[in-house]
Amino acid sequence: MPATIVQLRSRAVRSAQAEASAVVAAGSCEALPLVDRLQRRVRYLRVSVTDRCNYRCTYCMPAGEKDYGPRDAVLRLEEVVTVVEAFVAAGVERVRLTGGEPTGRRGIVELVAALARLRGAAGPLQVVMTTNGETLAPLARPLRDAGLAAITVSLDSLQPDRFTAITRRGRLEHVLAGIDAALAAGLPVKTNTVAVRGFNDDELGTIARFAWARGATPRFIELMPMSGGALFVPGELMPAAAVRERVAAEIDAPLQDVPARDVAGLGPARYVAVSRGPWAGKALGTIGAMTENFCAGCNRVRLSATGQLHGCLGHDDAGDLRRALREHGPAAMAEVVARVLGTKRDGHGFHVDGTGGPRKSMISIGG
Ligand code: SAM
Ligand code: SF4
Repeated sequence: MPATIVQLRSRAVRSAQAEASAVVAAGSCEALPLVDRLQRRVRYLRVSVTDRCNYRCTYCMPAGEKDYGPRDAVLRLEEVVTVVEAFVAAGVERVRLTGGEPTGRRGIVELVAALARLRGAAGPLQVVMTTNGETLAPLARPLRDAGLAAITVSLDSLQPDRFTAITRRGRLEHVLAGIDAALAAGLPVKTNTVAVRGFNDDELGTIARFAWARGATPRFIELMPMSGGALFVPGELMPAAAVRERVAAEIDAPLQDVPARDVAGLGPARYVAVSRGPWAGKALGTIGAMTENFCAGCNRVRLSATGQLHGCLGHDDAGDLRRALREHGPAAMAEVVARVLGTKRDGHGFHVDGTGGPRKSMISIGG
């Protein structure tokens, strides 16, 4: 009966909230060593809250059904809070919730609320999210009310057929409704577009203008050869410099680098701003992992949905935080974190021919 389901669900949510608050209040975690072997300080944690997705983007996962592991391999919400709390106590300032598709994780609003209550030395934890936007519209306001600070919505095309082709099942109108709902809720919005030569390179200026017209910030990402290069087509890679040139040509105005100090965020994007014309001052970001390597200043680590801590997007090695947490308790996480940061690489091995990437897929690590 619907009433029973609702009651059960709200009871489960209340219990997750109570457990999360208890964990936050306990402050039981040993300080984590958040400086890596190259003396880079980790300030940013990406957390995949699910390895499942309602899309099947061609560059992210194979067309067929993915072989998902057992559900209890995925961290429970209170375990996610425990891990994040320890990182915040050790200096992490921002957490990005990702996936799979994070809006599909049951209890995501409650998770955001629990995380947004955490405070580190630098102040309250900034909680942000990357989503494909398909089911964002009804969630945007609750997420904002729960304390979400900003949202990034993936948007590879503004043409409905193209959009469905690259996502294999996405409905553009739902995503656009999600973006509008996020903006209406007062969330700062960025869009993420994977620039694919011969597919959406004729739309880059259109997507930038679409974002600017709504007060959002467009970002363009180079295609990366995850999954052992299996989903990568070398000719489709559009270098970040070519993206900037293409947008500048489409809007008929030069783009100038924005000084790093003027750019909000802790990520690897390089920002440029339009220097004249109707869009003067509007910024766009490019993430040139393949052609503009930014690994030297890396300040992040990644937690997979199954609790594996990855020092680098481009390498497969990881530390098993889930096992440490479940078998030995929060204090055991420090040793795993020390091991991961002690071997954190100084660069990825991606090559533009599609070799050198990790075996893991983007959907499993969350971008
Ligand atoms: N499902 C959410 C979404 O699509 O926004 C969050 C997870 S998704 C893995 C995070 C980001 O990674 C998305 O913006 C997506 O476009 C990007 N991405 C996925 N596979 C990629 C690849 N092979 N190269 C570059 N970016 C990729
Ligand atoms: Fe899902 Fe995001 Fe991967 Fe697309 S990019 S398949 S939406 S996880």
